[in-house]
Amino acid sequence: MINVVIFGPPGAGKGTQSKKIIEKYGLKHISTGELLRAEIASGSELGERIKAIIDKGKLISDELITDILTKELENLGNVPGVIFDGYPRTVNQAEILDRILAEWGTEVSVMFDLEVEEEELVKRLLKRAEIMGRSDDTIDVIKKRLQVYHKKTEPVIDYYKETGKYKEIDGSGTIDEIFSRIDKVLQDLSQ
Ligand code: AMP
Repeated sequence: MINVVIFGPPGAGKGTQSKKIIEKYGLKHISTGELLRAEIASGSELGERIKAIIDKGKLISDELITDILTKELENLGNVPGVIFDGYPRTVNQAEILDRILAEWGTEVSVMFDLEVEEEELVKRLLKRAEIMGRSDDTIDVIKKRLQVYHKKTEPVIDYYKETGKYKEIDGSGTIDEIFSRIDKVLQDLSQ
């Protein structure tokens, strides 16, 4: 299996690049943000609690998000690999993911860290707000999400550097330019 962690701050292009990877490599996309938004859309009481946290720009607890991820993985079936988009967001989640994958006899193949200037991130997120209308894409919540990213999520970079899975990707330029940087690494991996 090729298991990819697509990583970066909000607005770095994780979802967009995931789509490009899926088109070419047929991996299964698991976006924890999308799973959470689906729970909210279901109108459940759990969804209401999740929405309150997301709209503050905070993180869902490691326990709850891991439960949601595990359920998704249990229904995976036969796939050539998985793209983890938006998970792990804490070092604890990175350790949990390694344990879950080890139980299946597999592992993270590579972690792509999409590097984008903060000013550009805010610009992209505000543009996305106009198109998609996500309730957490307002300037105040964006600022909070970036703070949380630096404090809790950025340390995940060192975790993957230590395990030798880390690949920094220049996240500036066109969608295709960014994808070709990712694709070069994936081509080497799938040989
Ligand atoms: P995303 O669509 O990946 O930008 O996620 C939107 C929001 O969902 C985040 O700002 C968090 O509040 C929550 N979320 C998504 N994935 C996780 C995760 N792995 N751990 C904690 N919270 C998460």
